[in-house]
Amino acid sequence: MGEEKEEKEKKEKIKLAFYWGATCGGCDVATLDIKEKILDVVSIADIVLWPVAMDFKYTDVEEMEPDSIDVCLFNGAIQSSEHEEIAEMLREKSKVMIAYGSCACFGGIPGLGNVANREQIFKTVFKDTPSTVNPEFVTPQTEMIDDAGEKLTLPEIWDTVKTLDQTVDVDYYVPGCPPVVDRINDAIGIIAKYAETGELPPKAAVVAFKKALCDECERKKDDAMKIKRIYRPYELTEIDPEKCLLEQGLLCTGSATRGGCGARCIKANMPCRGCYGPTSEIKDQGAAALSAVASILGIEEETEMIEEGIAEEVDELLDQVKDPLGTFYRFGLPNSRLKRVIINPDGGKED
Ligand code: SF4
Ligand code: SF4
Ligand code: SF4
Repeated sequence: MGEEKEEKEKKEKIKLAFYWGATCGGCDVATLDIKEKILDVVSIADIVLWPVAMDFKYTDVEEMEPDSIDVCLFNGAIQSSEHEEIAEMLREKSKVMIAYGSCACFGGIPGLGNVANREQIFKTVFKDTPSTVNPEFVTPQTEMIDDAGEKLTLPEIWDTVKTLDQTVDVDYYVPGCPPVVDRINDAIGIIAKYAETGELPPKAAVVAFKKALCDECERKKDDAMKIKRIYRPYELTEIDPEKCLLEQGLLCTGSATRGGCGARCIKANMPCRGCYGPTSEIKDQGAAALSAVASILGIEEETEMIEEGIAEEVDELLDQVKDPLGTFYRFGLPNSRLKRVIINPDGGKED
């Protein structure tokens, strides 16, 4: 009888897959940050693929019928032929596809590769890096014949990094670099409800807050405030723990970023860099963040300022924004209107 019950419970478990594309592995580690809650996951789900933690083969998944995986949590961006092939295979085999983490949702840090192309990235990594000695500029090949005459293959790296939903249909999004534990638990709650009742949230739901991070942030804001200097965090010896960081001259993208992380960077006196992505009202997170900074610099009154002969002062302020692309599009270049920098055939970048 006990065996019968065990068998019944086993049959009722849902099938769960984890996969990683272009990733740092942090999203997989964050999943384990839920500690004993992982036991709740194991009690409702059988894990059928988790490359970082368990020894399944892709052929195991290939042999499955379409829709035989209930939920796939896919972290990492799409940057190679392998990522694309596995994303397509998992989409076919999964009823529910979840983009998990900023790289899958928006392109993330790997998405900054879109300032270059594959050739330029290979040159930087395999030739110009000071720790690399590679005078013949040997780079990864997609296939070779080894000494035993066997053909070996490697995935092809793409020129352009893509988000998961630029590759396959995505049902839900769990943003964050990595997602915070509370939101991972929310996602597990959704999966648990699905396992129990078959109910799911509306398509394209984002497991985070609707409003911007500034609404979640407890620091005091003064809407009329203008700043005279932009600082990098290390340049400020004292940061007022009560006052908005942007108003202290630190480039905080909280107004253009979806809330839900618990303002974890802000609480550590670090400005938000936008890893939770844009709110649903914002089309381009970087442009919205830039506009927020411009308003606090007084750029909206630029004409008046030019007339007053202080345009130089504005230029000086803007020159203090080091690495604008890495600041405003750090986690979402592939997801932005820009998507990537256009590289001319001579290797130069278009303005
Ligand atoms: S979202 Fe962040 S933590 Fe997750 S894989 Fe990408 S870089 Fe790593
Ligand atoms: S800009 Fe940053 S520090 Fe200021 S209120 Fe928004 S999230 Fe908080
Ligand atoms: S404060 Fe900004 S960068 Fe930091 S975790 Fe939250 S959304 Fe991400």
